[in-house]
Amino acid sequence: MLAHLIRSKGPFALFRRGYAIFSRVGVTAGAMDRALTGFAELAARYGARVTFPVTALTLDRHPALLRALRGDGAIVELAIHGHRHVDYSLLPAEAFAGELDRAAAVFRSHGIPCVGFRAPYLRWNADLLAALEQAGLAYDSSQPILWPVIDTAALEPAQQTALRTLLAFDRPEPAETTPALPFWTGAADKTGNLLEIPVSFPDDEMLVERLRLSDAGQIAGYWIAAFEQCHARGEAFVLQLHPERFPLCAAALERVLDHVERLGPAVWRASLSDVATWWRSQHGPAATDPGPSSARGRWPGGATSAFVLSGDIDAITLWDYAARFWGA
Ligand SMILES: [Zn+2]
Repeated sequence: MLAHLIRSKGPFALFRRGYAIFSRVGVTAGAMDRALTGFAELAARYGARVTFPVTALTLDRHPALLRALRGDGAIVELAIHGHRHVDYSLLPAEAFAGELDRAAAVFRSHGIPCVGFRAPYLRWNADLLAALEQAGLAYDSSQPILWPVIDTAALEPAQQTALRTLLAFDRPEPAETTPALPFWTGAADKTGNLLEIPVSFPDDEMLVERLRLSDAGQIAGYWIAAFEQCHARGEAFVLQLHPERFPLCAAALERVLDHVERLGPAVWRASLSDVATWWRSQHGPAATDPGPSSARGRWPGGATSAFVLSGDIDAITLWDYAARFWGA
């Protein structure tokens, strides 16, 4: 676990990350509860929906808080972020299938509907997708797509190093050559029944932890530039903001939402499950996307693009983080 974290972040960043978690996530659930509620309220004010993938163990420790956050499901939906927060791409296929079974059982036992998955650390492989499909889930959202909005040559050397470490670990596809659109997973010779909905980079971790940005205008600038490229292509922008960083990024997120709102019905504000349901109804597993020439009509109501808010809940209290070190 520790070696894995060092590989993904580097030892110095890991120490700094430990301090950041300590200062943002409290011993009690109060700080995260406020962050989550603030996140959902901001989304609601702009007619947006949020998908919060959460580990089943965290849900099991804080069911009342998460059930209240979800409410009637009109604004917030939850998805499975694993049973534990581990790199499932390193586990044998049967072990992951068992973890997924246990996670789904926890969601069921707390009466929380969920149809989708996001892998911890965004680490996935073909076995993992096959297990998700086998479990009857509708979508996965673990493949990052990097929009070319960061001028790496203009970064400080430390920022460049931190960014390189993250990109080597997360392996995003370049948006220049990969559409930010849902696609059916499955072996090359057979189309599966599970949708992959790519998540857009840069995310909050890249901007706040790796590039060390704190200015709302700068953070919003990167997100809006990436969204604009996505919107011009008529694709789906899935923004990732971990709720623990919501207090740091709320002003930036508000600028993004304001920008999206100005485009009115040209942007379909949806949750991940909305996107999965719509895509299935329009482009079932046997069909292929009609392509950019017929991008109009790709989204509901004649919208040009789709905008989804998402934020992985890795922990509610410091104890949830601590438990991860002994694999719980
Ligand atoms: Zn996570």
